[in-house]
Amino acid sequence: MNILNLGGGGFIGSHLTKRLLDEGHSVTVVDLWTDKVEEFLDHPRLTFVQQDIRSPQFHIDPFVEAADLVIDLIAYANPGLYLRIPIEVFRLNFQENLKIAEACVHHKKRLIQFSTCEVYGRTAATLKHARLADPEDPIHATFSEDESEFILGPVNRHRWIYACSKQLLERVLHAYGLEAGFNYTIVRPFNFIGPKIDFLQSEQEGIPRVFSFFMDALINGTTMKLVDGGEQRRCYTYIDDAIEGTYAIVENPGGVCDRQIFNLGSPYNEISIRQLAETMREIYAEQFRDPAIPLPNIVSVPGETFYGKGYDDSNRRIPDITKARTLLGWEPVWPVRKMLEATMSYYVHEYPRTKPVAVAY
Ligand code: UDP
Repeated sequence: MNILNLGGGGFIGSHLTKRLLDEGHSVTVVDLWTDKVEEFLDHPRLTFVQQDIRSPQFHIDPFVEAADLVIDLIAYANPGLYLRIPIEVFRLNFQENLKIAEACVHHKKRLIQFSTCEVYGRTAATLKHARLADPEDPIHATFSEDESEFILGPVNRHRWIYACSKQLLERVLHAYGLEAGFNYTIVRPFNFIGPKIDFLQSEQEGIPRVFSFFMDALINGTTMKLVDGGEQRRCYTYIDDAIEGTYAIVENPGGVCDRQIFNLGSPYNEISIRQLAETMREIYAEQFRDPAIPLPNIVSVPGETFYGKGYDDSNRRIPDITKARTLLGWEPVWPVRKMLEATMSYYVHEYPRTKPVAVAY
């Protein structure tokens, strides 16, 4: 197939571009940055268009028209940015993504739209009025694509502008499916992690995701900070598992993905951010430590101090992957410790620390 992979130079995108090329597809990537795809930039079946889709000089139409399948990964997906540049988060994650979707509707092309598990928001157990016999039961934090309610915080906690933009985009795609027969598949990733996830926090301006803050603290012997105590939990999913699932969606056997939403995440890998910090510190001490540099302390900091006013958090989210299992035969296999070892090894041994790396915005 001729695949248009928008955002194919980012974290998920670069791994996916490689897989698509390995499977024999021709891939056109539109991205701001080339650093994560440098090793296959001269591949004969890759066309790399270094462009900002927001630029008035950029026109998506001919790219969509030429493609058999469009994948849209373009997004601001780091919580720090939702606090710092909320309007731009809305513009990129809703308005610009909508233009891509509408070009697909117009040209009758199938679209795989990356969304987020953050659309589910907080768990029912966090609602003040929720009276649950056992609030810790994972059932209250297990989200399924076509049944779970969405619980987002108030407007003045503007972290939720990201979840809300993505949710609205999903709803518009669904409406185009109903009214125009538009063929889309929505992917909701649950905390993918792996090589190339982010830049290291001390090396450039911007706010990466938690893994990079912790990795940076380990390499430089600075403090690992737990936002609001680190009791919040995530289900980490290794990028190789994520790409397996995504590629099954690309293949779409028998049209099972048509107008469907899929959680991609590992329900077995739930871990609190405190446990994440402790596990990373333990692995680093065992496998990578430079004895001249002290192991970091782990301290708690208030969310508003760390991110700024308007911060709020998703407390717990576990994917129900029944759909991906039954329709795609997908099963994530990487446990947390192994994925942390593999990702940390990349940042210790392979991450290009002397080269300039892509900025987050
Ligand atoms: N976090 C933290 N310390 C850091 C960076 C982030 O405790 O140095 C917390 C953050 O508040 C959130 C969790 O780690 O609860 C995961 O944050 P991340 O940026 O990876 O993205 P998210 O999963 O919230 O989309």
